[in-house]
Amino acid sequence: MREKLKLIKKNAEEKIAAIGSLDEVNDLRVKTLGRKGEITQLLRGLKDLNAEERSEIGKIANEFKVHLEQMINQKTEEIKHCELDSRLAREKIDVTLPGLPPQRGGKHPLTQITEEIRDIFTGLGFSVAEGPEIERDYYNFEALNIPRDHPARDMQDSFYISEDLLLRTHTSPVQVRTMEKTAPQIPVKIIVPGKVYRRDDDATHSPMFQQVEGLVIDERITFAHLKGTLMLFAQKIFGEDVRVRYRPSFFPFTEPSAEMDISCVMCKGKGCRVCSHTGWLEILGAGMVNPRVLEFGGYDPEKVTGFAFGMGVERIAMLKYGINDLRLFFDNDKRFLNQF
Ligand SMILES: [Zn+2]
Repeated sequence: MREKLKLIKKNAEEKIAAIGSLDEVNDLRVKTLGRKGEITQLLRGLKDLNAEERSEIGKIANEFKVHLEQMINQKTEEIKHCELDSRLAREKIDVTLPGLPPQRGGKHPLTQITEEIRDIFTGLGFSVAEGPEIERDYYNFEALNIPRDHPARDMQDSFYISEDLLLRTHTSPVQVRTMEKTAPQIPVKIIVPGKVYRRDDDATHSPMFQQVEGLVIDERITFAHLKGTLMLFAQKIFGEDVRVRYRPSFFPFTEPSAEMDISCVMCKGKGCRVCSHTGWLEILGAGMVNPRVLEFGGYDPEKVTGFAFGMGVERIAMLKYGINDLRLFFDNDKRFLNQF
């Protein structure tokens, strides 16, 4: 029995030395020292020995147990330490690696165009005016010579908030608001960038879009001033070789009124699908300020004249960049936005 005990001890010692993981250590502990372990099994035979031998073998067995227990505990500590070391090595952070660059945002193409338009006009001595997007019926229609029963209201299906309040359908109310503040001082030279709202929704219309409005009031302002100013604007935006033409049109707040076309930016005026084979593209509406609007604003139409114009920012951007669907501007698709 003594020999068998020694053999168990020797085997156990060898195994402990070779062990590499905590699982193996636990296995060995159970097999050797557990309640059904080798030593316990062996000691079942003690009852067949005489008292003297029983106490001697018992003593040796206990010493072995304590000894193996210590070895196993020590091994456990070693393995834990090793695993910690290797984990630390594995998870080490290399502070010298270059970092991940943050994704940089950019200006929306519509913002870029608005700024470009603003820069052109401020370069011509215009200042920038703004007004509320929730507007009174008076400023949005009445003071612009569009009374309640006027058919021109039908062209602008509006979002009404109450009988008297609506989301403005154009930036023109700011013309009247500005005149009320400045009259009778001259000159007035403003542009009005801003959001406007109409009940439209398709590939070329959105319920919200942006306009830039312009207004000039001074003594002896003529249609020639209008043409000169807008010609220069078209050349700055679309290039020096662009040509313009005016077609008679109607707006209640200007008289006479015109739509301005530019020679097609795609085909240079030869005719293509974009310009419906006419060679021309409509880009804005303009005209001489209606005397009644000047009166509403507090000016004497006998003393001053003026011109006004209004353009859609989205339309200018679509033509300048060759974009065929307005909704791309509002999708927030980075593949689209990254191109600007
Ligand atoms: Zn064309």
